[in-house]
Amino acid sequence: MARDERYDVLFEQVQIGPVTAKNRFYQVPHCNGGGYRDPSAVAAMRGSKAEGGWGVIFTEQCEMHHTSEITPYIELRLWEDKDIPQLAKMAGRMKEYGALAGIQLAYSGINGPNFYTKEVPLAPSALPIRTFTNDPVQARAMDKQDIRNLRRWFVNAVKRSRTAGFDLVCLYGAHGFGVFQHFLSRATNQRNDEYGGSLENRARFVREVVEDVRSTIGDTMGITLRLSLDEMIGDLGFANSEVRDFVEMHKDMPDLWDLAHGAWEDCSGPSRFKEEAHQKDLIRGIKELTSKPVVGVGRFTSPDLMVRQINSGLLDLIGCARPSIADPFLPKKVEEGRIEDIRECIGCNICITGDMTMSISRCTQNPTFMEEWRKGWHPERMQAKGVSQTVLVVGAGPAGLEAAHALARRGYDVALAEAGSEPGGRVALESKLPGLAAWGRVRDYRVYQLSQMGNVETYLKSQLSPQDVLEFGFDNVAIATGSRWRRDGVARQHVVPMPIDSGMAVYTPDDLMAGNVPVGNVVLYDDDHYYMGGVLAELLVQNGANVTLVTPSAFVSDWTNNTLEQATIHKHLAEMGVTIRLNRGVRQVGSDHVATDCAYTGQTEIMPATSVVLVTSRLATDDLWRALQARKSDWPDAGITSIKVIGDAQAPGPIAWATYAGHRYARELDMPDPGDALPFRREITRLEPD
Ligand code: ADP
Ligand code: SF4
Repeated sequence: MARDERYDVLFEQVQIGPVTAKNRFYQVPHCNGGGYRDPSAVAAMRGSKAEGGWGVIFTEQCEMHHTSEITPYIELRLWEDKDIPQLAKMAGRMKEYGALAGIQLAYSGINGPNFYTKEVPLAPSALPIRTFTNDPVQARAMDKQDIRNLRRWFVNAVKRSRTAGFDLVCLYGAHGFGVFQHFLSRATNQRNDEYGGSLENRARFVREVVEDVRSTIGDTMGITLRLSLDEMIGDLGFANSEVRDFVEMHKDMPDLWDLAHGAWEDCSGPSRFKEEAHQKDLIRGIKELTSKPVVGVGRFTSPDLMVRQINSGLLDLIGCARPSIADPFLPKKVEEGRIEDIRECIGCNICITGDMTMSISRCTQNPTFMEEWRKGWHPERMQAKGVSQTVLVVGAGPAGLEAAHALARRGYDVALAEAGSEPGGRVALESKLPGLAAWGRVRDYRVYQLSQMGNVETYLKSQLSPQDVLEFGFDNVAIATGSRWRRDGVARQHVVPMPIDSGMAVYTPDDLMAGNVPVGNVVLYDDDHYYMGGVLAELLVQNGANVTLVTPSAFVSDWTNNTLEQATIHKHLAEMGVTIRLNRGVRQVGSDHVATDCAYTGQTEIMPATSVVLVTSRLATDDLWRALQARKSDWPDAGITSIKVIGDAQAPGPIAWATYAGHRYARELDMPDPGDALPFRREITRLEPD
């Protein structure tokens, strides 16, 4: 199919200094949890975006000198010539289909604790290091020689980047993470020499580096400057009005303005709190201050909205990180007139948790993310089916839907049976909770895709018994029957059921999601620590309850520190009037109260309550699986060769774990059993001689 002409503007070329982007789709730098530890995995991931049609593709942040690094987080490194080959591999993959390859050079200054190199951090002013973990490290203020050194280090890094084959070099000064912002902001630059004070002075360092770099690279590479639209700490910081003054004063300094926003949590806010294009007011008018192209982000997944950004004069290029993760083939799908095939990002920020936990990233919508090399999973192509022909998938939650879709793409005949009257499983329910509507895209994408395939039959209102499964007579069966929340308080504080008086009205998240929402004095006990407790507190308040959230953790919705939304959740709940009691567990539930205990001292406190909501842990709904296991001897007569349990029914986890499980099942069906071998490829450090 040809693309709709209203999207033509997205496919216009854009000049970025001496180089030309083939279209306006610009994959801004984004982390992936792999970085220097998994360079081939990162290269293949970027390569999938090249194939998917992006005009510009960037690396994640690359630590450009050993005097500034952000261990334990795993990004890229360009400290010596030895680092060039792995970066060259990435640049090569980025350029394979005509995209421009960009490298983001980061000198972390006041953000780099240097735990690995043990160097004393350098910053414009002597202040404590600013990290997620309040590290007990301070930076010393750079003197003039340090500044001359740093300028030279940038030049060296740019030379190495050119050798590695990059077309664009991004000077990182956004999110509070780059030294350029540290110089530009009065908060982190308290110098009283010619590098501090007036905006003109605070801008001196970036001017000097751009000049140095330009005289080094001539017209061989483009220079982009990545800034935050507002530091978000009031007038003391590099606020939006000063950003505008700075751009106006340096109209043509970089070849492109890459405008991110605030701290990382402001820029990459989840859909729960930030809508698509949420930066538009901060960016409006900046393009008029410069003749150079402007790129901005906003979790853009809608091509119509992208076109509006261009036609209304807000942006020249559409910056995407998460949308390019959820669908590396987004540009190609627009180009081919396949808009409904775009796998839209849901804004859950699971991808970011891979970086925050120094593991490797996952994506809820795209289970192949970071598995392109490790497992050879292509985001759009499946290998042909194996020897068997038919697969029955029981349960149409995220695991079952993903399995059915991926199996159908392999060419199997698939039957998808769902007990409920609509598909989606937990996603259908959770997307109705406050702020989580965009999560429904997990269901919508897959349900639409299945509707387009001739080899899948979906049966709703079909609760299957073990006998039903046997009578179906399919070659393979995937049991994706999900999970349910526990009602007995078992999670982390209580590994066996907690004492609960039968006189108390006790609710689980499943009850609330079924519309059974209590009012009155509700104590919500959160020993799950991800989003559910906070979201349900919000639902309860909306419904008129007086809510006290009790958690043994020091943070409300603790694990959302990894999705960059914990502080927003706390603020949101506090402003809604939720009473938040941290570092407290629940010792027992009485008929009219909850006895809480201090996580440190055990000191108890009685909280009167009319209802209790237990957000603790989940039990796999695996009765069907276990019953079929018990009837293994009946499988051959029924024509069944394999039955597997996947997703929450195997072990409850976040939605991304379920889509991954569904995808993996489909990929591995009829494949040789790897036995004890590692089921993915991995890179290990090459040993140097002693
Ligand atoms: P997951 O996250 O693993 O996909 P979900 O809980 O979201 O799990 O979805 C599981 C789905 O399985 C639910 O929609 C549920 O109605 C369905 N289901 C559970 N048991 C059966 C069964 N015996 N037959 C058909 N569908 C079932
Ligand atoms: Fe979007 Fe979530 Fe995927 Fe990240 S993990 S790209 S936020 S869908």
